[in-house]
Amino acid sequence: MRTLVIDNPASRMHRVPPGHPEHEGRYTAVREALAGLAQPVWHAAKPSGIAAVERFHTADYVERVRAACLTAGPSEWIALDLDTKVCRESWDAALATAGGAIDAVDRIMAGGADAAFCLARPPGHHAEPDRAMGFCLLNSIAIAALHALDVHKLSRVAIIDIDVHHGNGSQCLAEIDERVFFGSLHQSPLYPGTGAAAETGLNGNVVNLPLMAGTGGAAWREAFETGLRPALAAFRPDFIFVSAGFDAHERDPAGGLALLEADFAWAATELASLAAEFASSRLVSVLEGGYDCPALGRSAAAFVHALAEA
Ligand SMILES: [Zn+2]
Repeated sequence: MRTLVIDNPASRMHRVPPGHPEHEGRYTAVREALAGLAQPVWHAAKPSGIAAVERFHTADYVERVRAACLTAGPSEWIALDLDTKVCRESWDAALATAGGAIDAVDRIMAGGADAAFCLARPPGHHAEPDRAMGFCLLNSIAIAALHALDVHKLSRVAIIDIDVHHGNGSQCLAEIDERVFFGSLHQSPLYPGTGAAAETGLNGNVVNLPLMAGTGGAAWREAFETGLRPALAAFRPDFIFVSAGFDAHERDPAGGLALLEADFAWAATELASLAAEFASSRLVSVLEGGYDCPALGRSAAAFVHALAEA
């Protein structure tokens, strides 16, 4: 697939307190790993407008996050929840992360590429319409999905979440919008505690595949093939979005699954084949978690390389 990397250098400016796992080094690790790949074309992320953000988030919430960031002093952090903290520059980083995902959709819809990987932080899939949580400020994947539906007038889009944590914020969208399919493979029990198999959304547009700690690549791939692929095929999305977290890697300190780089490459190839079958090869992936920097870099590179080779 003709593949883009949408790069958000403002990711470096979203600083967090010392010892926080979602730190600037994650961006650098992925950037350096992707720099060694020949195929993808790179573009710089553009900040999102507020109207696009407010397709998913409430205006009150957007103003609350913006105000928290902009009132932070030069060396100060403001806590939005127990583990989600912002500095003055976090607002620009979050807007550019959402804007990068939107730009990826626009470039693909214009025919300039098939697939994209958005290299950006902060992550987004835990952010709910009116609530920051789990290191996430703006839910970029939900914002980009709504952009594809409302601006490009697509009928149905799918969000597939391969992060080790359940994407509770993205599921919120599918629970109120039948045009959205949400499918997630995640460890359970684990933060944020949502994502039971019994959570099925509207007419089955939510598919949760909770997996026990210790689950390795073979069982993970089987869950994808038997639990997710048929439901996704039945939904027939016009566009596939991927919350590409790499914290299901066996080395990751935030989760207990046991995936390897080859499993993320396999997932990219599978998702690309589903996109080719149903969605005119249209696929946008956005970086979510991944907290062991060497494993994160290698996993993201394996994922993007497999997309480009698909
Ligand atoms: Zn995660």
